[in-house]
Order: sequence, then C-alpha cells, then structure tokens
Amino acid sequence: MQYPEPIAKLIEGFMKLPGIGPKTASRLAFFVLDMKEDDVLDFAKALVNAKRQLTYCSECHHITDIDPCRICEDKARDRSVICVVQESKDVIAMEKMKDYHGLYHVLHGAISPMDGIGPEDIKVPELLKRLQNDEIQEIIIATNPTIEGEATAMYISRLVKPTGIKVTRIAHGLPVGGDLEYADEVTLSKAMEGRREL
Ligand SMILES: [Zn+2]
Repeated sequence: MQYPEPIAKLIEGFMKLPGIGPKTASRLAFFVLDMKEDDVLDFAKALVNAKRQLTYCSECHHITDIDPCRICEDKARDRSVICVVQESKDVIAMEKMKDYHGLYHVLHGAISPMDGIGPEDIKVPELLKRLQNDEIQEIIIATNPTIEGEATAMYISRLVKPTGIKVTRIAHGLPVGGDLEYADEVTLSKAMEGRREL
C-alpha cells in the first residue's frame, strides 16, 4: 500500500466518479488535504445532503426535494403537453431555454437491447399511465439523437399514436450522437420549434 489508508480511501472515492482516473483522483485527494477543514466539512455535507434530501417526483420522475416537483406543481404550466427526456439533467437544459412551458417525463435511460434495457426498465409504463389523463394532447419526444434515443422515440410513438394523442420528435438541429444537455439554448429552442409529427 503506497498511500496511508485514509488517503487511499479518498482516492478510491474520487475514482468512482465519471471521467476520473487514478492520477486525477490522487491529485484531487491531495487537494482536499490542503483545503480548510470547514470547507471540507461543507463539501462532505453537500454530498450527503444531495443524496438524502433529493428524491424523484412521483409524477414526472424529475429529481426534486419536494413531491410533486415544482414543475408539476406549477399551475401556470401547460398541462396538455409532456416533453419526454432521458435524464433529469435534460429537464434542466430545457428549462434554461425558457420557452417551453409544458410538463416533462423523465425516462431515466433509453431502450437498449444490446445492454438488456427494455421499456420496463425505464419509466415507459409510468408515461403510459400518465397519458390516461384526458388533458394531454401532445407528447414531444426529446430523447438524445443516438441509436438508443431514436429506438426509444419510435417505441413510445408506436404505443402512443393509437390513443389519438399527437406525438412529435424534436428536430435534428442537435448534433447526432450528442447529448441534449450539451446543446446550447438556441439550438435546443430551434430543435423544439422544428419538431415534426411521428
Ligand atoms: Zn414532477
């Protein structure tokens, strides 16, 4: 063991984060050792609190500290349209754009037969249940422009269309293979504007 146990544990912790290899992890661990104790405590508390205080909205499955979430609770929002996204961070990207005022549905993934992920493994059944509400007139599918995102869009569209609810897909101003969260607000806004019926 090269490192004293507490540092080794800290490095191990950092290595569980995405994109962090052993070198970066050890750099971060040593950085933490040089931080003021109060700052380290605040950081540790923020990590634990984020995990403990956040839950998923029972309606749209977006991450929230109150249930239903603030978006679902907001009476000013257009309840006739639901925008379907893969992850909570996509909701945050859409909200930054500021010109969508409908509701959301977070799938928490995409259908990927290669990885053994079927519709039941993501929040597709929950979406179908929401559609029994008569108010809903349009579903905008804003899954990522990847093979999995497209497959998910097609699957949902096939299920929803017979109900008479309009199904649209956001336009491909988005980079193919890219993530929704990385699209800038103008691109995202254009993608929403140019959505086509499936
Ligand atoms: Zn919600």
